Formats: sequence, C-alpha cells, structure tokens
Amino acid sequence: MISIGKLNENQESAVNHIDGPCMVLAGPGSGKTRVITYRIANMVVNKNIRPSSILAISFTKASSVEMKNRALSLSNDYRMNKVTYGTFHSVFFRILRYFENYSLDSIFDEKSKRLVLRGILKSLNVENADDDETIGQVINEISYVKNELMDKIDFESEILSSDEFTKVYNLYEEHKNTINKIDFDDMLIKTYYLLKNNKPVLDRIRNTYKYILVDEFQDINKVQFEVLKLIANPINNIFVVGDEDQSIYGFRGSRPDFLLQFESYFENTKKVLLDINYRSKNEIVDVANRLIEKNENRYEKVIMCHQGKGATVNYVSPEDSEEEATFIAKDILEEMKKEYTEYTDFAVIYRTNIQSRALVDIFMDMRIPFVVKDSVITIYDHWASQDILAYLRIALNAKSNKDWVRIINKPFRYISKDNVNLVKEESDFINALINKCDLHPKQIKTINDLEIDLSYLKTLNPKNAISYIRSSLDYDRYILDYCSNRKIKTNGLIEILNELESSAMNFKTIQEYMEHIERVKSELIENKNNKNSDGVIFTTMHSAKGLEFKNVYIIGANEGTIPHEKSYDIGDDEKKTEQIEEERRLMYVAITRAEESLYISYPISKYGKKVSKSRFIDDIKSPTNKEMQDTTIGDKIYHKRFKEGIIIQKEGNSIKVKFKDGDRTLDYKVCLTKGMIWKI
Ligand code: ATP
Ligand code: MG
Repeated sequence: MISIGKLNENQESAVNHIDGPCMVLAGPGSGKTRVITYRIANMVVNKNIRPSSILAISFTKASSVEMKNRALSLSNDYRMNKVTYGTFHSVFFRILRYFENYSLDSIFDEKSKRLVLRGILKSLNVENADDDETIGQVINEISYVKNELMDKIDFESEILSSDEFTKVYNLYEEHKNTINKIDFDDMLIKTYYLLKNNKPVLDRIRNTYKYILVDEFQDINKVQFEVLKLIANPINNIFVVGDEDQSIYGFRGSRPDFLLQFESYFENTKKVLLDINYRSKNEIVDVANRLIEKNENRYEKVIMCHQGKGATVNYVSPEDSEEEATFIAKDILEEMKKEYTEYTDFAVIYRTNIQSRALVDIFMDMRIPFVVKDSVITIYDHWASQDILAYLRIALNAKSNKDWVRIINKPFRYISKDNVNLVKEESDFINALINKCDLHPKQIKTINDLEIDLSYLKTLNPKNAISYIRSSLDYDRYILDYCSNRKIKTNGLIEILNELESSAMNFKTIQEYMEHIERVKSELIENKNNKNSDGVIFTTMHSAKGLEFKNVYIIGANEGTIPHEKSYDIGDDEKKTEQIEEERRLMYVAITRAEESLYISYPISKYGKKVSKSRFIDDIKSPTNKEMQDTTIGDKIYHKRFKEGIIIQKEGNSIKVKFKDGDRTLDYKVCLTKGMIWKI
C-alpha cells in the first residue's frame, strides 16, 4: 500500500479521484506534479489498475523523466515501471510506429529539415533563401499551421506570399513523402488523422490507454488537445493539472483556454483548486504574487505559504553582465562554504541563451562547475560571429583560405564567384587573386586596402579588432544592408555582435581570445554529455518550468531583456499587451522556482550603453490589487509622475488623489498594471 498521508485535503481528493474528467488548477509549488505522481501510485498500487492502461504525459523529455523518477520513488512495486510515461511526441510516435510501420529511421531531424527547406526556398528563387533566420521563420510557420490543424491556404506568412508559402509547404511535404520520413510536427498531425479516420485503430488505443494524465496542461496546443479528446472519449478518464499563470508557449500556439475551459469540453469535470505553496518561503511567494497580480487577463488565485518566513530576496544592480556573473560566482562560493553542499542547489535563470555567455566565461575562469540545461548553440557559432572570427583568423594566419573565401565579399568587394573559385586552393589567396584574375584596378585597390587594414588589425587587442571590423571595415553596415534588403529584423544580429565584442574584452591578444573560444566550445560539449553531474544550473526561464532550486539568481532583469524587446516592438496594442503579459508570466515562472533565496539582478549598462531595470521590478515593489483595495481615504501613495499624494476619494477602482500640483482621479488598476503607483 502506498500511504497518501503526505498530502493535504485538496491534494488527496484529486489523488483519490479515479473515474471521469478532473482538472487541478493551481499556482506554482502547490503540488500539481506531486498529485500526478501520487495519483499514479494510488491507481497502480492501491486500486490495482492495470499500469499499462495509464498514460502520463509531460511536455519535455526532462520533465517526463523527472515524473517517472518521482513516481518510482513513491513505491518499489514493479508495476509502477509499466506505466507509459512520455512526451506528446514520444507517445504519439509510439502509436504511429505500431500502426503505420514507422521506425526510428523514419524521423526527419531538424538539421535535415533546415537543409531541405533551404533548397526549396532557393529553387523558388525566394530572395533570402540562404538566411538562417528566414529558414527558421518558415519552419515555425509550417509548424504553426500543422499544430493549429489549419489549412495552409488560410495562413498569412510574414515573409512569403501566400502562393509562395503554399508551394514551399507542398514541396516540403512531397520531399518527405518520397523518402518516407516524418518530422516532429507530423508525429502529431499524423496521429490525429490516423485516430480520427480509422475507427478500429482508435478503439484499440482507447482500450489501451484508459487513464490519461497531463502535467503543465496550460501549454497544450490544438492538435495535442484534439488527439487527447479522441483517445479519452467516451469514458473521459482524463486528469489534467496546470496553471494558466505559467503559460509561456503562446508563440508556439499553446492555449491556456483549453485548461480554463476544460469543463466545457468534458461534462461533469471534477475541479480541484490547490492553494498552498510548499516550495517557497513567504517572501518569495509574496514577490511572485505582487508580480503576477499586474496581469489583467487572469483569474485571481489565493496562495498560502506552507514554509513560513525566512527567505532572502535581494535586488542587485551590477555595472554590466561580467560584474553580474562575477558577483554570482563569488556569492555561490561563499554560500557553499557556509551551508550548502551541492552546486545543484543553485540556479541562474535568464531570458535568452545569449546571456549565458558571460556566466560560462566567469565560471570556467573561477573553476566552478556548472551544467547548462538548454542545448547550447554559442554566440561563436552564429554565422555573423563566424564572419568576424574568420577575419581574426586571417589576421593570425594569412593562409587560411577557407576564411578568405568566407569574408572576401563581406562587405561586398565585387569579387566574382568564378574568381574566388579559381584561386581558393592557391597557397597565397590574395596574391593569386591579384595576379591570376583579371581584376579591375578599382578591385585591386580594394584588396590592397583590405591587406593594409588586416595588417593594422593584427596589432590590436581582440576587442578593438572586432570593433574595427564592425565599424572601419564596415561589417555592421554590410549586415544592416543585407538584412534590410531581405526584410530581416536586425536587433538579434546586432546583439550577437555586441555580445561577441564583449566576450573579447578581457583578452590581450587575438591568439589568446581564439584559444579561449576553443576551450569554451570543448567545455560545452563535455557539459552536454555530463548533464547529471553536480554543478550550478544555468537555464533559460522556459526550461526552468516545473523545477525547483534552493537558491535562484535571475539575471539581466532589464527592459528589453525581460520583457524582451520583441514583446513590445511587434504587433498592435492588444497584441503587445498580450506579449508583455506572457513575458510577465515568464518572470513569474523564474521567481517561483526559488525555495529559500532569490536574487534579481539588473545591470546598469549593456554593451557600454545605459539600460533601465525591468518594469517587472516596479511591479513587484508597487502594491497589489488587494492592498489598493484595502487603502482608505487619508492613505498616502506615491505616483511615478505626480509624486506624493493623499487619497481623498475612493470608488471601485477609481481613486481621487490630492497631489502637490492639484487633484487627480486615477484608475488604480491601470496604474498598477503599468507599475505607476506605490503605497507609502
Ligand atoms: P509547478 O507549478 O512549479 O510545476 P507544482 O504545483 O507542480 O509546481 P510540485 O513540484 O508538485 O508543485 O511541488 C512543489 C514542492 O512541494 C515539491 O518539492 C513537493 O514535493 C512539495 N510538496 C507538495 N505538496 C506537498 C505536501 N502536501 N507535503 C509536503 N511537501 C509537498
Ligand atoms: Mg509541476
């Protein structure tokens, strides 16, 4: 028997619910994942339900493994192993393998996908076919159409005409069909159509999986939900847990509405709310609540804290990301001396992968072990960085022909492809270009100038060398033109180049810097193979979901980073509000990972320019709706623009405040959302 003693009343009622639909809606740390694992154990061990009839789905492979381990740790009954634990992709692919003769060899991987789509775009003479970002965008768009179960004709591509999009889509499908492969999106839609159109198969699956459990249900998308509905009907033993405040995959088509409107899809749904946070100490729960309260589109939840007080919440504003990483490294070393024994008790959480660059450098330097959770493509691998590094390699070794070929026309120097091909195997590339090709005197002059520039470049330290390539050799202008001709957004590219330049800051010679890059690359390869070793966890906010750490450091809490600038640059006002709210949920996910201590850090400058702290920090420091509701006439408030004031009237959300320069009527909810007022 497994004891379900370590559950509170509401958790227990969810765990004991066996037949019919059930949804658990609750905030972070309230035991949703715990309820799933206990429920599995309860069904298998106490209720003797056939384990192979239980299907437990998580969103990522890592969380699925975590769920399985947590479930196995509850009971050593061998039957617990027979439950199907998996991700949507793994479970659906298993169905396809069984009924449709697919094998592991059938999977069309992401790399081949890129390659094929590049070829297709080129064959259709799409102007920017070679560009990684264009290909990435097309991949996302095709993926979106499939996940939404849309007709491709109805889709409006951001970069292709509708005719082009349909052609690309069809050619891509044809290609896969001829070689008999399916990609990750196909696993979902093929399963959907298989089950929808083939009743005998559907009946078999329904007979196999009689109990379905889904963690993080707020992130489900249309095709996934449709398949689940098919399998669950008509007995509808479907048990889902989620938190709409943690929905962070809107850009991929995930829809928290499926969670919030679950009852409308499944009649007689049992609804369980959990309201105790077992993970985080009071101060952390408080910070998280203050933040998420500022989202307009949400349902208010009560969250009580089980752990009591005693957490530290600190805000730091280092000079830049290097100082930030150094501060964290030192702090962790200090803490390890005091009370912690494992580096995995510490996590550094950031909005984008690029932010891990300074961390990796400093932690390697200080010999602190770390584990990077996301698969890392470093800034050094980006094509724009590769261009710059090619220049640096040539400065070190003029015989590096591969690099000459790469940069000779970046920026454009009007050297034809034929000429480049003619001399690319020569021992002295430049000499051969001048002597063997029939160049115009103007071209020869350009090449001579380049040689002079390169000999100057050699004398510079790596940071100045990169800056010289970008400005004096006009590399930045070249990529800006390149992008504007192809309607590619440049923000991300310039950021990569800025980050690359920062990464070179602490090295005296180009040689030293290039050696450092090699070391970082091999360290990260090793890291990838050692994901289970003890080390400080480096993770993006997205990948941190569902996890918990004693100590959390959130870095780069600046406007433009979190909320990310793309959330307020793109779309109409309504879309922007939606995107900002999704960014706020991301920050909320990050904060709610912490158990005992939380640092939120916002550097003062980025790439030598001043940056402001994230609006979310103001959100945290400004009062909550509840506190504003509790204010009465006579209370003092502080307004960002009008400064100090006294509330002289109050009605609903509207307050009249006497400021120094006159009385004003304000909607306090709007002010709170914008982080404009404080209670003082
Ligand atoms: P998230 O939304 O972040 O995924 P969650 O709701 O899934 O959070 P869990 O990870 O299941 O929360 O639980 C958070 C922590 O609280 C875990 O360490 C879990 O073991 C613990 N916990 C949950 N419920 C209880 C309980 N009744 N008694 C003791 N510990 C509990
Ligand atoms: Mg969870």
